[in-house]
Order: sequence, then C-alpha cells, then structure tokens
Amino acid sequence: HAEVRRHLDRLAADGIDVVRVTYPDLIGTDRARDVLVEELPRALEHGLAFCRAVYHTSPQGDVVPVSGGLDAGLPDVCVRPDLATLVALPWEPGVAACLADVTDPATGAPAPESPRDLLRSVLERCREHGLSPVVGPELEYFLCEPDPAGGWRRYAANPGVVYTAGLRADPDNHLLRTLRQVRDLRIGVLSGNHEFDGGQFEINLLHSEALSAADRAFRFKAAVKELARREGRLATFMAKPFNDAGGSGFHLHLSCEGEEARNTFDDPSGAYGLSATARYAIAGILAHAPALAALLNPTVNSYKRFGPDTLAPWLIDWGLDNRSAMVRVPPERGAGARLELRLGDASANPYLAIAATTAAALLGVLAGEEPPAPLEGYGYDTAKAAVLPMDLSAALDALEADTALAELLGKDFTDSYVTYKRNEVERFQRHVTDWEFTEYAYHL
Ligand code: GLU
Ligand code: MG
Ligand code: MG
Repeated sequence: HAEVRRHLDRLAADGIDVVRVTYPDLIGTDRARDVLVEELPRALEHGLAFCRAVYHTSPQGDVVPVSGGLDAGLPDVCVRPDLATLVALPWEPGVAACLADVTDPATGAPAPESPRDLLRSVLERCREHGLSPVVGPELEYFLCEPDPAGGWRRYAANPGVVYTAGLRADPDNHLLRTLRQVRDLRIGVLSGNHEFDGGQFEINLLHSEALSAADRAFRFKAAVKELARREGRLATFMAKPFNDAGGSGFHLHLSCEGEEARNTFDDPSGAYGLSATARYAIAGILAHAPALAALLNPTVNSYKRFGPDTLAPWLIDWGLDNRSAMVRVPPERGAGARLELRLGDASANPYLAIAATTAAALLGVLAGEEPPAPLEGYGYDTAKAAVLPMDLSAALDALEADTALAELLGKDFTDSYVTYKRNEVERFQRHVTDWEFTEYAYHL
C-alpha cells in the first residue's frame, strides 16, 4: 500500500489525472481502458473486468470463436495494472500509461491467452536451463495518408530513398517527431531511418532482457499507430500492405547473458566465433521454423511478404552476415555476438514472437545438435534449403505437428491460437478478392 501511495503521489505531482491501462490480447492488439486516478486504488485491488477473448469481429459483426470465448458465454477476464511500467504519455498531457496482466477472475491465475504470461513461462523454462535471452527488436512500418480518391495511399512515396533522413523522403518530418516522442515514452529507442520503400520507416529498439524487449516493442507499435492518427495518418504494421512495395519485417536480434553480463553467444575459439549455445540455438530455430512461422507470420497476408529477392526470407537457412538468409549472424563478436532472425513480420504479437523464438532456441540447446553449413551467397535458391510454409494454413499445421514447441508454449494457448487463426483462414478462403475479378471477369 505504501508503494501504491507513492505512485499516486507521483501521479498527482506530475498533474496526471488519468491512467491508461493497456494489455496485449492474443493477436498483439493493445486493448485499454482509461481509469481516473482516484479510481486507481480500486482497480489495483480488484482488477478491471474485460470481456474474455473478443479479439476481433468478422465483417458480419460476429465475434470470432476461440475456446473459452463465445462457447463459454464470453466470461470476464480480470486485468491487473502493473505499476512498475507506469510512464507519462508524452503526447497526451495529464495521462500516464501502464501495462497490465490478464488473469482468471475465479483463480487469480494468468489467463491462458495472456501473451505476457506465456512469455514469462517460456523465459522461466529458459532460465531453468541456464539461458537468459537478450532481445533487440527492429520494426518496420508503412505510413499512409488519406488518398483524395478515397482510402489510404503511401505517404511521400518517392522511390530510391532507403537510408535517407530529412525532408526528401519525409517532407513533414514524421520520423524525427516520432523518434523523439517514443524516446520520451522511455522504451529504449536507438535510431530511425527511411526503409527501402516509399512511405516505409524503421525504428530500432535497444536490446534488453526478453520480457522488457517484448513490452517495449508492444508499446512502440501502439505509440506509432497513435501518433500517426494524431497527424491524420495511418501507420500500419501489416506484413505486406502494397503490391508495388516490399513488406515490413520484425527482425529479432537474439543473444544470451551469462555470469557478470557476459554474452554467452560469443566464443573466439568456437566455430564461426560462436559458442556451442549460439550454434545449437541457430539449429533449434531452423528445426522449428515452419511452426515458428505460425506465430511470427500470423496473418494470411504475412505469406505475401516471403519470396525470392525480397530481403524477407523464403528458405529455412542461416548465413554469416547474409541478409538473404532467414537467420543472419551479424559480423560483430564479443559483447555484440548475436543472431538476427529475419523471419518475423511486423504484424506479429511481440510477446508471442519472442516466446516462440526463445522456445525454439532452448529446444535447440537441449537437443545439442550443430546447424548445417551456413548459406554462401544468394539465399533464394531452392536447391540449397527447404522453403518456409507458404500460407498460414500450412504454418498452423506445422505448429500443431511440432509437439515439443507446442508443449513449451502450453496446450491451452496453442489450441486457442490455432482455433482463432483457422477461423481467419476460413473467412479469407471464402472471400472474393479484387484480383479474381480482374483475372477472370472479362474473358471467362
Ligand atoms: N523489409 C524487409 C523485410 O520485410 C527487410 C529489409 C531490411 O533488411 O531492412 O524483412
Ligand atoms: Mg529494415
Ligand atoms: Mg535488420
């Protein structure tokens, strides 16, 4: 209670009268309620009631079925603010935000679909085996502006502007403004740049312990979307929003911390200057890649990002400083020794992406097998390695078939997730697209 008092005093001193309590749902959308500061003690004591498992409604307005959702009468979940994550929102005077955990109101235990708890439990298993994962997230997104012809178009879509800064590719200084605002949100931001395609940006977050990295990536995505709306724009992290541009990746840099903060992925005497732990982690990620795709590439749209010559992966391979490989080992060694998993796209729920990646790395370390030889040169040659699942349905099959990974993630979680995503696949399969009309209507 003394600690709650301290938080409330600090909020009052900072002129904060509302706390935005936000939790990540199964698909990584930020769900929130604005709570008046005077009501916060009650919310802390009893939690806030939200309806369980309403992640999405179909275009017909139906609640999408997940187990424990509509089939159970849409019961409550209890959302508990985590005041350790409290921070003033730089762009909304008087409002602070904090993250929250989703619990079962009857038992107080974590709800099975709580992504934050899922990540905590995987990290606990990693620590039992002496691994403390360190993660650095890189997220790309497209900024869109209203199209006078209706809908949205890419913001300032000039070609040839990758790695530029300034007004040429960003006439309204969107990137500078966003970079400063997310810095003030204190989520550990490093730098930002214009990406390969017009209207596409990337902001890099600092590396840290894995749960904090997921919290920061989650808050980053919510912040960028909110800031874009304040400018009358739309920021989207969907995987492949446009036919005439590449997709948006969610690259994850992974290493592990040992005694005295030593990077245990580094070993000057090991093969490639990497420790056995790092090499086994790579082998685990390759072995479980088809199942990982179900979580790191979670939408029907995700699979349109993959392909030859995209800088997104297509094959299940790894390489030394090779951006055409699925797992790239950047050239740094010593404290900077790490792998970069390039599989994920920006639409992934950061908690699930990081939980699945660290789980696959752990399974690799437990199996103790060396990875195959690294890719040399061009990484999109199917003679060299197996192809990733090419649609969500195949990835969900791979997740269900991967019993070791599904067991680490928990059967309740995997069942809920697969049920939800199978429904998404079915809805898409029934939907008639523009492409079909253009392809068939005139000459068939
Ligand atoms: N946009 C690419 C992707 O979808 C990545 C480009 C880069 O290497 O920054 O993964
Ligand atoms: Mg990039
Ligand atoms: Mg990268």
